[in-house]
Parts: sequence; structure tokens; C-alpha cells
Amino acid sequence: MQVEEHVALARYTTIGTGGPARWFARPDSTTELQAHLRWAREREARVEVVGLGSNLLVHDDGVDALVLKLSGELAAAHVEGDLLVMGGGAPNAVGLHRARAAGLGGFEFASAIPGTAGGGVRMNAGAYGRDWRDVLVDAVVVDADGARTLGPEELDLSYRHSGLAPGEVVAGVRFGLEPSTPDAVKAIAAELLAQRKSTQPTNKRTFGSVFKNPKEGPGAGRMIEECGLKGHRIGGAVVSPRHANFIENAGGATSADCIALMAEARRRVHERFGVELEHEVQFLGPLELPPL
Ligand SMILES: Cc1cc2nc3c(=O)[nH]c(=O)nc-3n(C[C@H](O)[C@H](O)[C@H](O)COP(=O)(O)OP(=O)(O)OC[C@H]3O[C@@H](n4cnc5c(N)ncnc54)[C@H](O)[C@@H]3O)c2cc1C
Repeated sequence: MQVEEHVALARYTTIGTGGPARWFARPDSTTELQAHLRWAREREARVEVVGLGSNLLVHDDGVDALVLKLSGELAAAHVEGDLLVMGGGAPNAVGLHRARAAGLGGFEFASAIPGTAGGGVRMNAGAYGRDWRDVLVDAVVVDADGARTLGPEELDLSYRHSGLAPGEVVAGVRFGLEPSTPDAVKAIAAELLAQRKSTQPTNKRTFGSVFKNPKEGPGAGRMIEECGLKGHRIGGAVVSPRHANFIENAGGATSADCIALMAEARRRVHERFGVELEHEVQFLGPLELPPL
């Protein structure tokens, strides 16, 4: 078991901001993961997980926690019959590749979500009318006491929400897919990706959607745009000119810049529409938005 100290986390996030983890480790099996979780419990240390950091904002001063990055067999994927079996740290792109090669369809929507299977459980990630809840058979959830296999109901999955408690780590996920052909999977994924590229800043450093869409009324991006905030800049962070519910790192951005921009967008949307936007991006470290 190897634990490093003061490891810079910015390179483990897609926005590229934030300070170091006090402790950092890369468990590559469930046994090793449990050993790390017990190590943290003995020190009363918080445990955090980074997937591909694609919906993550890390405090500029870093995180006083053991930060885990799943690797090895916990980041691999394979197919068993009509099941896609992924380690919690396996990238969605790898899962889709395996499914396609095996002629299994139903996971194409994940091609536009640049995260991992485990991060997808935590966020109940979704796109184009489907989310993890629709395809997840079960997930192995590990904490310092052991491992449990939970279905979608027990995981309490709903729009960008799961019932995972702090310190619970998704070590593996099984998705139930349907027979298709490699060509059909490839064509659907390509079509979804093309749609994505035409509306979102996929070639910029972002952390995906900043805010969740409210249950009713216009989406978060539409409201932020109508407040005239597209292109608005604080420090190195800019409200994307392409899609207002994205923040781009235009060079040298800090997490504090992103928070200031989020606070401004949230305040202006509240003033104009009376809507309290809830952030979708997850915070690592003591980050918070000021009250409205
Ligand atoms: C360009 C772009 C487009 C995006 N489009 C979409 C979209 O269409 N739909 C969508 O839903 N999301 C989208 N996202 C956001 C993001 O990709 C998803 O939320 C994704 O599921 C996050 O996965 P991750 O592995 O990167 O998690 P991270 O961003 O690393 O972490 C997110 C949260 O999950 C937790 N977590 C990560 N791994 C685990 C694990 N193994 N066990 C327990 N907790 C874990 C983290 O602690 C954190 O709280 C987009 C992001 C970008 C940059």
C-alpha cells in the first residue's frame, strides 16, 4: 500500500485548477482499496475519490483528505454475455469501446460524458434522455467496513443525484446492454458526439455543466445567457461563449475565479428569474457559494 503526500490535483481535473491532496493513492484492487479506507479511518482522515475529474472543482489551497484514484483492475472493463462490467475508475470511453467490440448497444449516450463508471454512479450521469439508472444493473460500493452490491433503487439514483455517503467508493459497475452491431454502435455514438460538438465547448478546459437544470422552466444555460453573461470573465475563468452553463479556463484560471463567476451567475439568475440555481459540479475541499 503506497500513500503519497501533497500531490497536485489540478492535472487530475478537466478544468485544470486547484491545490494538492494531503494524501493521494491509487488502489488497484478491491483488497487494496479496503486497506486504504481502513488506513484513513485509523487517522480519522476524510476520503475523496477522483474519477476523470470531469465534474470537479478543487479548492486552490488543496484538500485535507486521502484522495483516491482507482487504477489497475479497478479501472478496467470487459464484457460478460450482455453485461458490460467496469471498474469504478474505468473511463466511459473504454466501456463503450468494449461494448461496441462485443456488439452491445445502449451505452452510446455515455460517449459524450467524459468521466468514469464510478463517477457516473455518484452523479447519475446522463445525456440524450438516458442516464446511469436506465442501464445500471448493480454497483459494488466499498467502505472501511467492506463491500456491498447495490441496485439502482438502493443507490437512490435520480437527476444528477445518488444516495452515496461520504467515504463510499464505487469499485465496480455492471451495465445491462442489448444486442446490436459494432457499426450501429459506432454510428449512434458518432452522431451524438457531433451533436455535442455543435452546442458545447468540447475543445476547451471545462468541468461540464456548472448548474443543474431546474425541474421546470428554462434551463440553467438559457437563464445565464439571458442575463447577458456569455463571455463574462473573472480572472482566468470565462462563461463559455458557446454554452452559458459551462465555465472555460481561458488560461491561468483558479478555482476561486470559477467560484466568483458561479456566484455572479447565480445572483443574477436569482434577481431576474427568482430561481435558486443548484451547482452540479462537485466541490473538493472547503469550497462554497455565498448565500443569495
Ligand atoms: C465537456 C463535458 C461534457 C459533459 N457532459 C455531461 C453530460 O452530458 N452529462 C453528465 O451527466 N455529465 C456531463 N459532464 C460531467 C461529467 O463528465 C460527469 O458528471 C461524469 O459522470 C463525472 O465522472 P468523473 O469520473 O469524471 O467524476 P469526477 O468529476 O472525478 O467526480 C465527480 C464526483 O464523483 C465522485 N466520484 C468519482 N469517482 C467515484 C467513485 N469511483 N466512487 C465514488 N465517488 C466517485 C467524486 O468524488 C465527485 O464527487 C460533462 C463534463 C465535461 C467536461
